Amino acid sequence: MRDLTHRRALVTGGAGFLGSHLCERLLERGDDVLCLDNFYTGSRRNISHLLGRENFELIRHDVTFPLYVEVDDIYNLACPASPIHYQYDPVQTTKTSVHGAINMLGLAKRCKAKILQASTSEVYGDPEMHPQREEYWGRVNPIGIRSCYDEGKRCAETLFFDYHRQHKLRIKVARIFNTYGPRMHPNDGRVVSNFIMQALTGQDITLFGTGNQTRSFCYVDDLVEAMLRMMGTPDEVTGPINIGNPGEFTMLELAEKIIALIGSKSKIIHLPLPSDDPKQRQPDIGLATKILGWKPHVALDEGLARTINYFERQLQVS
Ligand code: NAD
Ligand code: UDP
Ligand code: UDP
Repeated sequence: MRDLTHRRALVTGGAGFLGSHLCERLLERGDDVLCLDNFYTGSRRNISHLLGRENFELIRHDVTFPLYVEVDDIYNLACPASPIHYQYDPVQTTKTSVHGAINMLGLAKRCKAKILQASTSEVYGDPEMHPQREEYWGRVNPIGIRSCYDEGKRCAETLFFDYHRQHKLRIKVARIFNTYGPRMHPNDGRVVSNFIMQALTGQDITLFGTGNQTRSFCYVDDLVEAMLRMMGTPDEVTGPINIGNPGEFTMLELAEKIIALIGSKSKIIHLPLPSDDPKQRQPDIGLATKILGWKPHVALDEGLARTINYFERQLQVS
């Protein structure tokens, strides 16, 4: 018999970095959580502490295949997020975003579930509008090495809005900007984990290009809070809504900050800038503030200190 007091949440990509934090928060507030993952970039270790919980269930499954379960809320996070991982098997990346979205939308349609898409600031590509607002259509190369991810996520947004218009689905599209924190994979390949691991182990810090390109980094706890608030909005709120921390830094500033926080002797070396690497990125979070009553609270220095602490402990364990 169904327990009507608990919401049944499906988190795809639940064993990944963001997904594992989201599963944790959902369990804390009393939801029944079904965590789905194919362990492409995620790991059982990220959710091993949740496995014994009565309200937690894990299934190994690939979202590109249909899934028949009964749920109330779907958080669709399945997709590799780091360029080196999403470019390793680009066809699978597009399939994950597009077929994955179709399957999860089909599931939402059958279950009459609400569904949230983890979209991305990458839909803005290498943007001419700065900071980026939701009405900006973006500047994305359709045939480049980042396109499998960028265009896959753009097509997923299209599918979400067409299922909303055509089938009256309750959708929430969150455009997530660079997020960091504990449980990023040490070999994830994204800039924060790379620089921290390099600084902790005394290796050279690999700065791509001049290091003048910018990103705005959001701490994971702030991000998860915004996702939960977005899922809780009235049905007419579909998004897209930008979620991120507007504090903007150059990659050189980030490298210097991490070296200083760790007291590392690592040197900065310059490597070629990958193609289509966006030059600047900063979210306009006016909508998130207005609609979700949300703003990030963890400043970069504080979030980096917590993340460094996590990676230090990982190095001690291994
Ligand atoms: P991650 O790589 O740690 O997590 C992705 C998870 O999805 C992994 O556990 C992986 O195994 C799983 N997965 C991949 N393909 C799958 C498939 N076909 N079927 C089932 N599971 C699959 O990355 P993350 O940072 O936690 O990102 C989570 C989501 O948030 C992604 O959709 C990503 O695009 C989005 N996002 C993240 C950021 C960020 O900065 N972290 C920014 C924008 C958007
Ligand atoms: N689907 C799923 N679980 C469900 C219902 C549908 O995985 O509970 C998948 C199925 O693969 C289907 C896709 O979602 O092809 C889209 O479903 P929809 O109902 O929109 O279209 P269909 O293809 O069934 O006409
Ligand atoms: N970057 C870097 N060194 C690294 C990894 C990344 O200088 O070891 C740069 C990368 O070129 C980009 C920025 O850091 O300009 C953010 O890269 P990441 O892969 O973390 O995220 P995304 O480019 O998807 O925003």
